[in-house]
Amino acid sequence: MEKTYRARVMVFPFHGQGHINPMVQFAKRLASKGVKVTIATTLSNTKTMQVGDGSIKFEPIYDDCTEGGLGGQGGFKGYLERFEASGSRNIAELIGKLENSEYPVKCLVYDANILWALDIAKRLGIAGAAFFTQSCAAIACYYPMYYELLGEPLPLPALSIPALPEFRIPNLPSLGSVTERYPPIIRHILNQFNNIDKADWVLFNSFHKLEEEVVKWMSNLWSVGLVGPTVPSVYLDKRVDNDNDYGFNLYEPNADACMKWLDTKGTGSVVYVSFGSAANLNEDQIAEMAAALRQNDDDNSNSFLWVVKPTEESKLPSNFANEMLGKGLVVTWCPQLEVLTHHAVGCFVTHAGWNSTMEAISFGVPMVAMPQFLDQITNAHFVEHVWEVGVKPKVDEKGLATREEIQRCIREILHGERGEEIKKNAIKWKGLAKEAVCENGSSDKYIDEIIARLVPT
Ligand code: UDP
Repeated sequence: MEKTYRARVMVFPFHGQGHINPMVQFAKRLASKGVKVTIATTLSNTKTMQVGDGSIKFEPIYDDCTEGGLGGQGGFKGYLERFEASGSRNIAELIGKLENSEYPVKCLVYDANILWALDIAKRLGIAGAAFFTQSCAAIACYYPMYYELLGEPLPLPALSIPALPEFRIPNLPSLGSVTERYPPIIRHILNQFNNIDKADWVLFNSFHKLEEEVVKWMSNLWSVGLVGPTVPSVYLDKRVDNDNDYGFNLYEPNADACMKWLDTKGTGSVVYVSFGSAANLNEDQIAEMAAALRQNDDDNSNSFLWVVKPTEESKLPSNFANEMLGKGLVVTWCPQLEVLTHHAVGCFVTHAGWNSTMEAISFGVPMVAMPQFLDQITNAHFVEHVWEVGVKPKVDEKGLATREEIQRCIREILHGERGEEIKKNAIKWKGLAKEAVCENGSSDKYIDEIIARLVPT
């Protein structure tokens, strides 16, 4: 017999690992509660993504194979223009086509980056939910910048976050030495606020207890809903069938090699190092990191697993991976969820991307947070000063974390007194993360409320 559903929702993530992971996971949560989900994405994603539930279907709305992806003509701006021109037409057509089906689309959950998606939802008379793949705090930090750019006063007092360093926008590595305060990528990010007050929901991959104060402030602006952590259910509440991984990888992970190697290591003895999919460390920073990981040959010596993306491999000191055999494993990509939950991992040296941060919090892994740009700076600040689940290396005048400083932070976490406190905090937040997605937890209840508003009574 045909399965029956409570409603259909369309989920529309933006390009990139850090955007796709949380939104597909949110789709799985909806599906597990009887919602049929259509995920609108690029053609190449529809070919590679796997989700084990028949309630979720991928539909291409942009042919990046022929029209060109992010690396195509015109750079980031050219991509955005092409994506909007074809994507907006195709997604509207797709929603229109489903209008006469048994389950018409009731709500478009779109990445807050794709603000034109809300205009389409409104034009077609369906609900629109903006989904931010950053923390509430990071978005709260951007908000005053948006008003500064508009040249208008903020409609409410800015959220006060003591001692938060300003975003180092001019230092964005991918932009070279940009000196203007609002380069194109920042304008793109700030544009997210153009129509956000028209969204029916503003959703975050976060959970209430983690960002209580920020949510209180933000709820003066929008209908804010926290629906995370969006890590696969098997690692938290185990209530979503077949939800073991994200089903999407930027690069082929060296899964077997990583896990077998970790199996040979003692509990809490391995330093896991990864800077996510987008950040690129400069050669000097890679050299400092390599020296920090190589150095610890005293009693407190630790092994390391370091993800160095194919685009970064040439920056490694020559023969580093071979010289480190036994002590360290260098891979181009790894199954991060499995790695972080392996008993051998005692510390995560991270760029503090929001997904990595939420994963570490969900699994109780202490962090050495080395933010590179944008929201990572806010995330690292919260990791160190608010949730107290990690430390942040100081950087010198060139923005470099030295080998000694990285080492000091790793030692502090693994062997220091402060590390003991940090480990206790990490365990506490792990419990609260799980509680949020379990039955009747804050995130679980919020998802139920969204669905209840979509289902005709
Ligand atoms: N990731 C992974 N394997 C790796 C490195 C990263 O699976 O070797 C995943 C990680 O689990 C996370 C995502 O890639 O879900 C990175 O997202 P994040 O927001 O941390 O950083 P971004 O890539 O967006 O900068």
